[in-house]
Amino acid sequence: MTLPLETVRHDQLRLLVLTPDYADFLWLNALLAGDPDISPDSTWCPDLVDCDDLIRNAAFDVIVWNCVVHGGSESAFLQYLAVASAGRPVLAISAEAPGVRAPEVCASGASDYLSRQQLDQWSFRRAVKCLWYRGQLANTAHTQLGKGVASGFINRDLFFDRLNQAILRAQRGGHRLALLHLNIDDFRSINESFGYQKSDQLMIRLASQVRYGLRQVDSLMRIGGDELAIIIEKVEDSLNITQVIRKVISALDEPISIDGQSVVVSASLGVATYPEAGNSPENLMRRANRAMFEAKRDPGTSYRFYDRQLHISAGYQLRLEADLRHALRGKELELYYQPRIDLASDEVRGVECLLRWNHPKRGLVGPDEFIPVAERSGLIVPIGYWVIEQACKRLQESAGLGFPGLVFAVNLSFRQFHDRKMTETIFRIIFNANVDTSLLELELTESAMMHDPAYAQRCLRELNQLGISFALDDFGTGFSSLSHLQDLPISLVKIDKSFVQALGKSAGAEHIIRAIISLAHSLQISVVAEGVETENQLEFLRQQHCDEIQGYYYARPMPWADLVQFLNKRGQSACLQL
Ligand code: C2E
Ligand code: CA
Ligand code: CA
Repeated sequence: MTLPLETVRHDQLRLLVLTPDYADFLWLNALLAGDPDISPDSTWCPDLVDCDDLIRNAAFDVIVWNCVVHGGSESAFLQYLAVASAGRPVLAISAEAPGVRAPEVCASGASDYLSRQQLDQWSFRRAVKCLWYRGQLANTAHTQLGKGVASGFINRDLFFDRLNQAILRAQRGGHRLALLHLNIDDFRSINESFGYQKSDQLMIRLASQVRYGLRQVDSLMRIGGDELAIIIEKVEDSLNITQVIRKVISALDEPISIDGQSVVVSASLGVATYPEAGNSPENLMRRANRAMFEAKRDPGTSYRFYDRQLHISAGYQLRLEADLRHALRGKELELYYQPRIDLASDEVRGVECLLRWNHPKRGLVGPDEFIPVAERSGLIVPIGYWVIEQACKRLQESAGLGFPGLVFAVNLSFRQFHDRKMTETIFRIIFNANVDTSLLELELTESAMMHDPAYAQRCLRELNQLGISFALDDFGTGFSSLSHLQDLPISLVKIDKSFVQALGKSAGAEHIIRAIISLAHSLQISVVAEGVETENQLEFLRQQHCDEIQGYYYARPMPWADLVQFLNKRGQSACLQL
């Protein structure tokens, strides 16, 4: 195909020279000087930090690379250059003869290779000009359209377009977005061992394995022979991203069979987030690529965030998750118990079981810190069963200690409803513990039932038939609609502590509490107020005929032995037995 001449521009050549030696830079410039077609605007760059800044902030037509400059593997560095410079041609220069070095460097992504021995004015000018013109041609819309898309690949323009759309959605919705750039380590050896076609099949299989672990809304694209890009939308925090990273890593860990041989690959992942790493597709891609390049320095599958703060927090979350897995096995979890007082009789009606983690290094860790990790990793399911088991054990014990009739309330997480064997497992636990199920109460939030309301309702009914009762937790904070409580076997609502603590500070809190109590009572549902800390709060709730109170005013959550003491002190046993 011939192109009209005016599409090839002959203006100033912007050259970036990556070499540690200034004399080298001067020499290369001297070789170009005097050529009528080139009036080079050359920039010297001796190290990697400057290189990244330069490439990100300035545009170059051709990059001349002295092969001694790289931060780890040469091929990874070339890949980084390719993405960071948006595919600018790289002319590699080193001491070895072309026959020795050129095939390797060019296979890794360099556009051309020159040996120092043969480097003269003529060869250097010819190579630079050739790359410059080729780049200009490639930039015209004409050739872009003509480019075919190989199997499973996505065209670069299409990819940038999708990324751009995702960024716009994130901007509109005020969400964070993460771009993951994944590059298979040492794909060249895989290519050499299995041949191009088989390696390509491996890559396609790998991509589908990775895809399997992603959410519907996330998009995965193959953007190069050994590269994938994943766009994760609606990211709340680094936890969401680590969850995806974990899934990607475990997909990579799965061996893939080619030619009857089981192959396990490792990869490097770079993560850049909007808005932290920029708000244009080019910036996000460059930064994800830079992070990926840094991840190449760690052996095996590894990842890096462009944003350091996110990197630290993601690493922290993943460690926490591993520790938590260990905690469940290693008996580091413990239940604390917070009494609930009946306002009419001033007796302890029951206790809420609250998880604590005795971390070997960090001491006692509160649930707000680790429950979200447990929920997102799915660990909450086995942990949740452990909590019910433990609560049943204490329930059994409490009767023997002289506190029969004490209600044990356990929190259920939304994530536990994802376990399709939930009712069956809970049934098995209470059957084995042989407890009076009417003394077991499960606390759940409205959002727990939002995911799959029909399934959640069925679970509640089945468990309710076994005698278990339900409390609606944090009431007033969700999209509460007391009317839909009628359809559920709920016998108690717990007014969220934020309303109780706003008493005396906001008139709205009083109205809300009054409304909740009167509506609940009209539906024969009891009310517990949480977070009661002061006499005034207590008095207000008493006037409104709130049924029960839970809060620091009476007692904080405490270990089992302390609870037994607390109950004994209040002379609980006699009252409850009557
Ligand atoms: P929650 O279910 O709303 O539990 C009540 C929280 O309020 C507890 O925090 C309790 O210590 C705290 N609290 C009670 N009285 C007062 C008070 O007077 N003032 C103040 N400022 N706070 C009070 P905790 O133990 O840190 O638990 C936090 C949350 O962690 C719980 O909120 C619950 O959502 C979750 N959680 C705890 N244990 C479990 C569990 O076993 N499973 C699940 N899924 N979640 C749990
Ligand atoms: Ca609760
Ligand atoms: Ca609550």
